[in-house]
Amino acid sequence: MKIYNYAAGPAKLPDSVIKQIQEELPSVHGSGMSVLEISHRSSLFENILEDAKNDLKELMGIPDNYHILFFQGGGTGQFAAAPLNLATNNHKIALLDSGHWAARAGDEAVKLGFEVDTLASTKDNHYQSLPHLPKDTNGSVYDYLHLTMNNTIEGTAYHTPEKLPNTTLVADMSSNFLAETYNVNDYGLIFAGAQKNLGPAGVTVVIVRDDLVHPVEKIPSMLDYNLFVKKNSLYNTPPVFPIYAAGLVLKWLKDLGGVSEMQKINEHKSGLLYDFLDQSQMFSNHIKPSDRSLTNIPFTTGSDDLDAQVIKAATDHGLMSLKGHRSVGGLRASLYNAMPVEGAQALVDFLDNFEKNNKRG
Ligand SMILES: *Cc1c(COP(=O)(O)O)cnc(C)c1O
Repeated sequence: MKIYNYAAGPAKLPDSVIKQIQEELPSVHGSGMSVLEISHRSSLFENILEDAKNDLKELMGIPDNYHILFFQGGGTGQFAAAPLNLATNNHKIALLDSGHWAARAGDEAVKLGFEVDTLASTKDNHYQSLPHLPKDTNGSVYDYLHLTMNNTIEGTAYHTPEKLPNTTLVADMSSNFLAETYNVNDYGLIFAGAQKNLGPAGVTVVIVRDDLVHPVEKIPSMLDYNLFVKKNSLYNTPPVFPIYAAGLVLKWLKDLGGVSEMQKINEHKSGLLYDFLDQSQMFSNHIKPSDRSLTNIPFTTGSDDLDAQVIKAATDHGLMSLKGHRSVGGLRASLYNAMPVEGAQALVDFLDNFEKNNKRG
């Protein structure tokens, strides 16, 4: 039975990358040593790190005045790192409350003593559409605006950024990193945990504009952008294996034609599922169509019992990890970059059959 994994993260990696990891595991680049045991100070790893940076730079069109850094601590670590590094003038952050991860980012900043202004929220409609900036907001009182580009749990995404004049834009791209094109120049800081679109869990990519990086007095070294820039992400032992694996995924994405090509494929995959859901009598997705995510698609029958039956039957068919997040319920299919078109089609075929075989009447 063919297995498809729709998990929200850690999530599916390209089959060819898993195979390459398996083949190279005992001896990376013909060295006779496993990537699991090489020194992070070795030239072997230096090459892996530089390749990953160069490939990412090419894929995203990252300008020369941005640094590419690798951290541990996940997206959540960056909820603390962003304010500590960037909110050093006004100690004040603007936020659009688009869901769970946006709220988490705000909570973390408050915990650290920063002031957070939630400028708009769609909590009242269960985050089924995106909040937008109120007109004539004064950006200059904030150090930055925090935006969650793709709301992993709720299934919405900003396909173009909200822009607040006179303030820096900080983007959490954890769940649609490299899945659709964004213009890096629009942002002061972009971060993403690897485990959704880029690689295994354990590494977080930070892309930060040069003029925002400066010494900060009271900051843990492990969150210090200035220190990581100076040390080329090698202040202490980095997550060697996740960086290596992410590097292979970047090469896979380049071979496939890059981010704009990936976006077309992702639009096709998500389109298959949205088109099915929109005509179905049994299943539906409640997200405002223009705000729909390409990568995370929640849906439901409207009945907890029936949802549970669908998940059980899907699992028996090899369609794994379709249970929705506990805060939303229902089902969720994550169709990240590594999910092939056949995986989206297999899910649609299964749901269509389930509906036909379980007609209520
Ligand atoms: C998963 C996720 C996070 C949290 O990532 P961790 O690596 O688990 O800390 C943050 N933001 C978004 C949008 C996410 O999808």
